[in-house]
Amino acid sequence: MNKIEHIGIAVKDIEQSNALFSQLLNVQPYKMEIVESEGVITSFFMVGETKIELLQATHAESPIAKFIEKKGEGIHHIAFGVNDTNTEIERLLGQGFDMIHSAAKPGADQQSIAFIHPKSTNSVLVEICSAIKQP
Ligand code: ZN
Repeated sequence: MNKIEHIGIAVKDIEQSNALFSQLLNVQPYKMEIVESEGVITSFFMVGETKIELLQATHAESPIAKFIEKKGEGIHHIAFGVNDTNTEIERLLGQGFDMIHSAAKPGADQQSIAFIHPKSTNSVLVEICSAIKQP
């Protein structure tokens, strides 16, 4: 794994949290994006080489809605940048990690992503991601 690509933070009200994190980080979000497959609306801030991703649920069955219900707002996942998500999935499966996604899928911000099950990683939800190569 190459670097911490981003840190995902679960929030209840993304507009309110955009304002808060803009003040905190002294930078505006560079994009907002809905990820239908995850039931989330996201916003991204660039902090040096690392992004902060805010996530708000778009419906009650969203994993983010369930997370907030159980644990409240806060850090949801850490995402590590890798060269190729599918290659890294194979390596992690070989090491015995339990993958939530056994194949890469499209995520927000033009990334090919997969999540490792937190029961494999001391309850830390870990995402791996690589940039989707533009044709
Ligand atoms: Zn993420």
